[in-house]
This record gives sequence, structure tokens and C-alpha cells, in this order.
Amino acid sequence: MSVAGTGAVDPFEQPLAELLGDRTAKVLAKELDLRTNGDLLRHYPRRYYERGEFSDLNRLQPDEEITVQAEVAKVTKHPGPGRKPPRVEVEITDGKGTLQLTFFHSWLAERELRPGTSGLFAGKVGSFRGRPQIVHPEYHLYDEDEDGGKAAQEFAKPRPVYPATGKLRTWTIQRCVRVVLDSLPELDDPLPATLRHRLNLLDLRTALQRVHRPDDLAETFVAKERLKWDEALPLQIVLAQRRLAALGESATAREPRPGGVLERFDARLPFALTAGQAQVCAEIERDLARSHPMHRLLQGEVGSGKTVVALRAMLTVVDGGGQSVLLAPTEVLAQQHHRSITQMLGPLARPGQLDGDPDGTGVALLTGSQNAKERRANLLDAASGDAGIVIGTHAVIQEHVQFQDLGLVVVDEQHRFGVEQRDALRAKGPVPPHLLVMTATPIPRTVAMTVFGDLETSVLAELPGGRAPIKTHVVPALEKPNFFTRAWERIREEVGQGHQAYVVCPRIGGEAGEETDADESDAPAPAEPSAAESERRPPLAVVDVAAELEAGALAGLRIGVLHGRLTPAEKDEVMAAFTEGSVDVLVATTVVEVGVNVPNASVMVILDADRFGISQLHQLRGRVGRGSVEGLCLLVTEAPADTPARERLDAVADTLDGFALSEKDLEQRREGDVLGAAQSGRRSSLRLLSVLTDRDLITRARQAATELVAADARLEQHPALRAAVDALQDSDRAEYLAMT
Ligand code: ADP
Ligand code: MG
Repeated sequence: MSVAGTGAVDPFEQPLAELLGDRTAKVLAKELDLRTNGDLLRHYPRRYYERGEFSDLNRLQPDEEITVQAEVAKVTKHPGPGRKPPRVEVEITDGKGTLQLTFFHSWLAERELRPGTSGLFAGKVGSFRGRPQIVHPEYHLYDEDEDGGKAAQEFAKPRPVYPATGKLRTWTIQRCVRVVLDSLPELDDPLPATLRHRLNLLDLRTALQRVHRPDDLAETFVAKERLKWDEALPLQIVLAQRRLAALGESATAREPRPGGVLERFDARLPFALTAGQAQVCAEIERDLARSHPMHRLLQGEVGSGKTVVALRAMLTVVDGGGQSVLLAPTEVLAQQHHRSITQMLGPLARPGQLDGDPDGTGVALLTGSQNAKERRANLLDAASGDAGIVIGTHAVIQEHVQFQDLGLVVVDEQHRFGVEQRDALRAKGPVPPHLLVMTATPIPRTVAMTVFGDLETSVLAELPGGRAPIKTHVVPALEKPNFFTRAWERIREEVGQGHQAYVVCPRIGGEAGEETDADESDAPAPAEPSAAESERRPPLAVVDVAAELEAGALAGLRIGVLHGRLTPAEKDEVMAAFTEGSVDVLVATTVVEVGVNVPNASVMVILDADRFGISQLHQLRGRVGRGSVEGLCLLVTEAPADTPARERLDAVADTLDGFALSEKDLEQRREGDVLGAAQSGRRSSLRLLSVLTDRDLITRARQAATELVAADARLEQHPALRAAVDALQDSDRAEYLAMT
């Protein structure tokens, strides 16, 4: 924001002390981190009190905290001893009842409270001689000419209720806002006038006036609509400028070749693509055929068959003379992808071998556990172009590999992939590769990204036919211990029928180090009471639980353990044993969370389920019910009913829709988290705007931003808007949005 003309100090940036004095400014800074005029004016009311919402004086409960709107009826003074101030007894009335207020030794009350004065009074109701009273209430008196009206008119107006603290009351904030609003010079509006007129939006000063000092509630909605634009437009401008810059980026167009590897692959595919898969494949094919880098998110339910979609995209690039890389978040998953992709390709994956198909392409695997010789061979295949498909973990591929001609990057399970990794891969070739990101549960940031419109999204909603849905139940271990016992019986039954089971724990255990395999980006929502945290017992651990089950509830079954402290070779061995069925029950950490595919596994018991985030749970349960048997997932928890933790588990049990769960996640987090306020430690730029409920507005802001940037990329004509955009760029929020 800047003042009309240049060189002048922006009134929004002015420290509050200049208008409010040092003392008040200090309190505002300390209590609410409000430091400038702009901070205060953008500190919007949380809600408004309307007439009738205040307590009634004829219905008072002892010990109740109340706020009443009332008039002083009678004042009685009892002179203090010597020169001490008097004790003042004030009777107030709201027309329905009366209440006594008592002030011991208060000159101020004596001076301010006179019969006929009205205002707000707040405090805790006590009693004196059987009658209700409040000692030393807080009060806010309406001036005779406040807002140019009479106190009676004031009564009819909505009163803002600000986010406040015990030491800084909402009406103090209100008073400060008034002072600042009244003394602000003319503001240069960051929203261009043409835009405001076209969209029928208020100017900034009017909007601020009406959000802080409304005459009626309807005004506040109109004002907020405008103020939301102040949040949406600069963000969309940043994104639009980036898109404009990206337009200059070119990529190599890749198209399938008649008789090529894609066609041959399709011919040997043992199943038909679902309608959803076919459509997404077509979308991707269109993108790849352009000489502009694709940025696409493929959001598909767990088990919806994303891998085959990705493989077809990779083969398209091979047909087009390039290479593709598939990034997996874990070694286990990379190995599994390698196994299943070479298997699906069959002879097509062995072009140079006797039993291979010369029109196929090599598939290289790169992981941290390979020995030097293996790795060298795979690196060579990648560098020479012999391997049209390279599969590996993020870390390995980023560091070592060179490509002949990298055309496509596929990122599986996007929630573990960061901006730096993207940039590292981009640097591997002369032109940026196309990018396909796949996930079952978009993290809140992704939801925000798609709402803000910077990611093209494809969705796979249906599961391939014949797949039985997963049933999920919450098992409250303390409330219903017999349900808990039943969980282990269920595992025995499933194993008895030839199936397999997972038992998931939040912790590894066994040694002094308190490691988890948890993924930071998906920690449980912060709604958790943190004070209670320290009193809780440590989460259950894989090593302990496995030993206990082996000796007790699951004695006689073949139990394996899998966690991040095993060596890669050990991990591979356990996974292979589980895959081929020589292990019945796999006790594991979240290393099984992503993508592990053992269709014979039919039941999963998640212990201390409340210690996991929503998307983690959704991912985890996707490991069962991948074959034709029905999957069962039991979420065992000691969290009491009616806590946010239990609500989260209930949400997971209630729906299989990953996007709905992400939205639930988003709802439980503070809005600020979405745009990274938590990371920057600063206040979020989103105060009024909600990515969940303001999608229309965000879309309109996107259009407006695109037009503005197309006409005037650097916003030379709109200095105030440019200043707002610059302020946003300075924060790391802009980077946060730059995922692709
Ligand atoms: P996810 O989307 O969770 O990554 P996968 O790609 O691992 O799911 O697919 C799960 C299973 O479904 C795999 O065994 C895969 O071969 C199978 N599959 C994929 N598409 C189809 C289809 N159209 N018909 C039948 N099975 C399919
Ligand atoms: Mg997968």
C-alpha cells in the first residue's frame, strides 16, 4: 500500500505509536503483534454483537461471565476515609432487569458513571446480600455524539468483537481502530478503480470504515467481500507473473509413435483401462504433445491405478525419443515400482536381450542400497539413454544421475516432494522436463494450489472394477477393551483364510533413540492439546509390539518387522517375504504408508491411530483391500470421544474420498497454515479469505490478475497494487505457492 504520489510515508506502514502513543502501541504490539496502522486496520472483527445477543439482566446466573448493554440508573457514593477515593455503587438497567456494580476507591468511576450514561459492562456475576453484583466490571461507555448519533442509536448498531486477549479487550481495540481510521490521510487503493467499478467493489477506506464501524450487518458483508480481494488479488498477480515468465519456457513435445512402445504395451495390458484412466491418459497425452512444459497433478484414490497412467505417459516420452524418471519417496516403494513396471512391460523392458523386444526400452533402478557395481551399470544406462525409464528415490536421482534426454518427471506421492528437488531435476537438461505429480491425498497446500489455480488437475475417482471397498472402524481401546481384543482375533481369522495383515505403530522403539518414521509434512493437526502432550505415554513402538504379539495374541503366526532403522537390504528382504506370503503379519512404521502393493493383505490395525495425520491414515489403509478381498482397517485409539483427535479418526472412518479428507484436514488446521504462516512465523496473509468457501472469488481474482498482468506485466500503472505484491513477494509465502 502506498500513499498517493511517491516519496511520502505510507500511512499503512506508519508505527501505531504515532497516532496512539507509546503506551497503547506497546500493549498492541505485545498482546497481538500489531505494530503499524495497517496491522491494526487489517485486524478485522471476528464477529459482531447484535442487539439481543447481550446477556439479559433478568436472567443472571451466579459466576457467569457476562457482557450487558445497559444504562446507568442510579449512582450512590460512599466517601472513602481521608482523601481516599469513594466507594461507588452503580445500578444499571437494560429495561428488563437491574444489576449492581461496585467500585472500591475509584475516582474514574465516580467521574464517568452518571445516571443516563449508557454503554457495555462486563465481568463475572457475584452476589452481595443475596443480590447479584459485579465488582469492578470493565465498561465501555457510549459517547453522546459517538458516530454523530445518540447513544440510543448506538444501541442498534452491531458492535465489532475483535480477536482480543485478557489484557487487551475488544473495546480497547475498537477505540484504537477509531482513532486510526479517523486520522488516516487519503489512501491509495491497491485495487485499480476500473476493477472496482466493474466488480462493484467498495473503495478501501469505505470498506475499512464499514468493517470496523458498521451501521448494520449487511454492510459488513459487502465490506468483507472487498477486503478479501486485497488478499486474493496480490497472490494471483504473483502467480500470473510467474505463468507469464513460464510461457517463455519451452519443452520438447513428445508424441506416441505408430507401432511404438506405447502401442505394444497397450496390446499386452491384461486389463482394460477404466473410463477415468482413459480420460486422464488423454489429458496427459495432449499436454506432452505441446512444446510447453506440463504441470499436472494426478489426484487419484488409493488403488485407483495411477501407476499404469504414469507408465503410459513415460512410454509416450520414450516413443518421442526421450527418457522419463519416476521418483518414489521411499526405497521400498521405488523397488516395488521397479518390480511391477518391469513385470507389466515384460519383454518390452528387455530390449537388448534374447527373449526381449527390440522395440522396448530399458528400466533402470537407482537406490541408496545398491552396491557400486549395480549402481554404475544403472547410471550408465540412464546417461546413455539405454534406459528410457529410470526409477529411484528422490535423493539418489537428484544427486547422481545424468540423462541423455530427460523429457518427463513423474513424482509419486507428491506430499513428500519439495521445491528444491524440483529445481534440482530441472537443471538436468537444457529444457525443463514435463512434470506429473501423483497423490491420493493432496496436502492442504495442494488444495490451496489447485484452488488458486496454478496446477492443472486430473482426477481418478473410480476404482478398477471388482475391487471391494475398504471398511474402516474406530476402536476406542479404553472405552471398549473387548473390541481391541477382537482386533487381534480378526487378524487370526484373516490369516486362517490365507490372507495377510499389517500392524502399524507410530514409533520404532527398541533402542534409546526415540526415532519415528513420521513424515513432518503430515503431522497431526495442531488442534491437539499440547499441554496434555507431555503427560501422555510414549506412542507404541514396532519392536515392542512385535515381541508382545509374537508371545501373546498372535503367537504361532509368522511375524515380520519393517521400519526405517533396518538396512535397505533387510527392508527389501522383509518386503519380499511379505509379498510372496512367507510372512503373515507385518508390524511396521509408516514406511508402509505409500504405495506398497500386496493385494493379499486384507486387514490393517493401526495402533495409537490418533498420532497420525488424516492423510497418513488414508494412505496407510490404502494398503489393504487392493485385491479382490474386502479390506478392513481398524483405527485403535485411546483418545477420548469428542476430542479433535477422535473427530479426525471418525472422519477417516466415514469417507474414502481423499479430497474430502484433505478438506477436513484443512478445516482442522488454522487457515494460516495453508499459506505457510506457520513456516514464516508471521501472520498469514489470509484473514478473511477461505480457500474452502471463497473459490468463486479466487477464480475471479485469477482472471482479473491475468488480465492486469497481460496488459502491464510490471504493474507500472498500478503502484499501490505493485506495492502490495512486492510485500507479498518479500515474505516466503510466495515461494510456498511455487510448487511446480
Ligand atoms: P494407486 O493409484 O494407489 O497407485 P496402483 O497404480 O498401485 O494404485 O494400482 C492398484 C492395482 O490396480 C494394481 O495392481 C494395478 O495393476 C491394478 N489396476 C490398475 N488399473 C486397473 C484396471 N483398469 N483394471 C484392473 N486393475 C487395474
Ligand atoms: Mg501408487
